[in-house]
Amino acid sequence: AASDVNKRQVPFRPAELDLAAMLKAHLVDLAPRVKEAELQTRLEIRAEVIALADREATDRVIMNLIDNAIKYSNPGGMIELALWREGRRAFVEVRDQGIGIPEPDQTRIFERFYRVDLARSRSLGGTGLGLAIVRHLVQGMGGEVHVRSEPGRGAAFRFSLPMADSAN
Ligand code: ATP
Ligand code: MG
Repeated sequence: AASDVNKRQVPFRPAELDLAAMLKAHLVDLAPRVKEAELQTRLEIRAEVIALADREATDRVIMNLIDNAIKYSNPGGMIELALWREGRRAFVEVRDQGIGIPEPDQTRIFERFYRVDLARSRSLGGTGLGLAIVRHLVQGMGGEVHVRSEPGRGAAFRFSLPMADSAN
C-alpha cells in the first residue's frame, strides 16, 4: 500500500551482499521480458564488491530500476548495468537508451506518485511509487541515489551502498 513507502514495518537486516551475483541473477530472471521488449543487456563489473545492506531491500531497488529501464526503453535499446567502488562505497548504475527524463522532472521523479507525462506513463501501467521506494530504501541503508538523463537519449540511475569492509 502507498502508506507503506515511508513506514517500513520490517527493520533492515544488513548482511554481506555479493552485488555482482545479485545483478547477474536479476538479468537471468528478467531475460524473458528483456527479449520480449527486444532489448539487450550488458553487465560491467569493474570491481567485485561486497556491500553491507539488506538483501530484500537491495533486490527491490535493483528490480525497480531495471523495471523502469525496460518500460521506458524502445525496441533495439541496450540496458547496461555497472558495478564499481569508490573508496568505501559500492556503486551500481542502471543505464538505458530510452525516452529519458526532462530536466525539470528529474528532481521530482523520486516523489510518491510523480510520473512524467501522465498520459504516456499511464499506458505503461504502474503507480509512480517505484522510485519513491528506491530512494527510501537506499537512504535507509546509508546510501544515495541520483539520476542523469538526456531526454530522448536515455537515463542513468546510480545508487551507492556502504561496503562490508567500511568499518575497517
Ligand atoms: P511503478 O514503479 O510504481 O510501477 P512508475 O514506473 O511510473 O510506476 P517510478 O518508478 O516511481 O514510477 O518512476 C516515476 C516516473 O519517472 C515514471 O512514471 C517515468 O515517467 C519516469 N521514469 C522512471 N524511470 C525512467 C527511465 N528509466 N526512463 C525514463 N523515465 C523514467
Ligand atoms: Mg517504476
